[in-house]
Amino acid sequence: MAEIRLANLAHAYGNGSYALKPLDMTWRNGGTYALLGPSGCGKSTMLNIISGLLKPSEGRVLFDGQDVTDKDTGARNIAQVFQVPVIYRSMTVADNLAFPLVCRGVPAARIKARVTAVAERLGLARHLTARANRLTADQKQLISLGRGLVREDVSAVLLDEPLTVIDPQMKFELRKTLKEINREFGLTMVLVTHDQNEALTFADTVVVMNHGEVIQAGSPQELFDRPATAHVGTFIGSPAMNFLPATVEGDRVVLAGTGLSSPLPPGSGPLTFGFRPEHVGTTEGMALDGRIARLWFEGAEQIASIETAGHVFRARLPGTTASVGDRLSLRLPISALRLYRDERLVA
Ligand code: ADP
Ligand code: MG
Repeated sequence: MAEIRLANLAHAYGNGSYALKPLDMTWRNGGTYALLGPSGCGKSTMLNIISGLLKPSEGRVLFDGQDVTDKDTGARNIAQVFQVPVIYRSMTVADNLAFPLVCRGVPAARIKARVTAVAERLGLARHLTARANRLTADQKQLISLGRGLVREDVSAVLLDEPLTVIDPQMKFELRKTLKEINREFGLTMVLVTHDQNEALTFADTVVVMNHGEVIQAGSPQELFDRPATAHVGTFIGSPAMNFLPATVEGDRVVLAGTGLSSPLPPGSGPLTFGFRPEHVGTTEGMALDGRIARLWFEGAEQIASIETAGHVFRARLPGTTASVGDRLSLRLPISALRLYRDERLVA
């Protein structure tokens, strides 16, 4: 078991600019994490530094307080699964699973026991004698995962977009299996993904990255309630968080055309209010009236784009009787309002 700490860590590939900007972060032993961000934001770089495939240009990697920065992958008890399954296509499933143990000179009887146990856990037991290339894409990914799990000393599983090649129903199943394994064996799991749904349904801590920077790490609820930046507010939640300009009136900041306001924070830079479409209602809070400009469904819920005082925001509508052009009397509780200065949450 290991708690993983990245201390003053950063990485540049040699062209001078940071692929991963300086960060300090601890991965709790047994936790489920998602690294969420668009392509090129540094997710794989971070994962490869944890597994030892890549040596960081700055900072240290600590497992349970022990410095492992200079240790290679083999010396770290980490299993890594990649986007494309890494398997020996002509070998049987059993031989694929056994391979890491054979390399370490584990006795044959012990290998057999481990391979059987892992294959059963992953639902591969029926396929043990089949050649790996005969299996489906998701089963191949399970073999990759299984090769990581056969080692008894493995303490963390790193998954780099492993679900990309898998169809949606299988994705759901595999995610469920991963969570069960996390619970049963207490393995720390880090899932890299650019899909917010995948991140939010899998992880208890979601680490949002953008442009080589960790923007915010928090529970799905924290990311929803208090997005640290406008980027997080937009990236997490569907529809995205609303952002409307805030105007300064004396020592207050006011949401234009409404009675909604909060104290003026110190500092300079443009101020915006953020609020979730889910928090716009009809009963509680200050008036936020407007006219429906657009209407659409997301699942069973109706979403409206609403014009107010020259701006547009989105709201979830409780009934389904509204139509475009209707004027609505809406309300927003002050507690739902977040203030951003230069797109960063004002504490
Ligand atoms: P992600 O996994 O989020 O898509 P990566 O960690 O792979 O992002 O890449 C982060 C940045 O580092 C990108 O700008 C990418 O082009 C660059 N990069 C990744 N690998 C290398 C490499 N081996 N050499 C040079 N630049 C790289
Ligand atoms: Mg990547």
